[in-house]
Amino acid sequence: MYLILLGAPGAGKGTQAHVLTDLIKIAHVSSGDLFRENIKNGTPIGIEAQGYINRGELVPDETVIEMIMEHLSTPACRNGALLDGFPRTIYQADALNEALREHFKEGISRVIYIKVDTDELLQRLSGRWICPVCQTPYHEINNPPRVKGKCDQEGAELYQRDDDKRSTAERRLQVYFNQTMPLIDYYKEHGLLLEINGQQPVEKVTRDIVTALEAIPANEGKKSIMLGETEESLVA
Ligand code: ADP
Ligand code: ADP
Repeated sequence: MYLILLGAPGAGKGTQAHVLTDLIKIAHVSSGDLFRENIKNGTPIGIEAQGYINRGELVPDETVIEMIMEHLSTPACRNGALLDGFPRTIYQADALNEALREHFKEGISRVIYIKVDTDELLQRLSGRWICPVCQTPYHEINNPPRVKGKCDQEGAELYQRDDDKRSTAERRLQVYFNQTMPLIDYYKEHGLLLEINGQQPVEKVTRDIVTALEAIPANEGKKSIMLGETEESLVA
């Protein structure tokens, strides 16, 4: 099963991904986490991505597609994945769909769109703290760790991302509105979008997502809707 988490920076994708992957035992694939890992390790992808990320711009499509496809072909993703932060452009969405169809003979099951107002997004990004070991996001007011400044699971010292500073966060939101929001209609038109109210407590957002996933008809089975194919061609 391939699921996508779609939403603006700060909508709660990472937070929900950490809970959901535990609940439904599916691999978590976060493009942002993979870039940060590549930057830490000084790989060619990391070196290329750094400047774009610092400026709040999207990394070029071909680079992110290559990185994600490589990751999707690892054994951890054999039975599916929860994609967090990818795709972010129509071009990436088309590439993902083509690759899933060609290599995995499977389509995207659903796109979970977490909707949050802009003012709330900026407040969330400015108070976000992250665990450097497990990447779990916390918020100093909304979702604090049990011990101030330390990850609940790892005990590691939390850090703030450079690109969460106000000016870069505003640029990232602009980029989201221009380049990523068209994906909402793209997936809605294909009947794949599950719209979730992200402005509720974390546990309630999780519950709404799980309820929406449980409502997927059982007869859709593993081979879910493939973009570009009619339902008849799937049944045939
Ligand atoms: P994204 O991955 O979409 O950028 P995160 O999951 O990192 O978003 O969440 C952004 C910030 O908002 C974090 O500080 C997180 O603790 C906080 N947050 C996440 N979900 C909620 C929620 N439902 N209500 C309030 N704050 C939230
Ligand atoms: P957030 O959780 O706040 O939405 P991410 O951690 O997902 O942010 O992404 C951080 C940065 O990594 C983005 O601002 C962008 O520069 C880069 N990035 C992540 N995913 C993609 C993608 N699918 N396409 C292009 N750039 C990406």
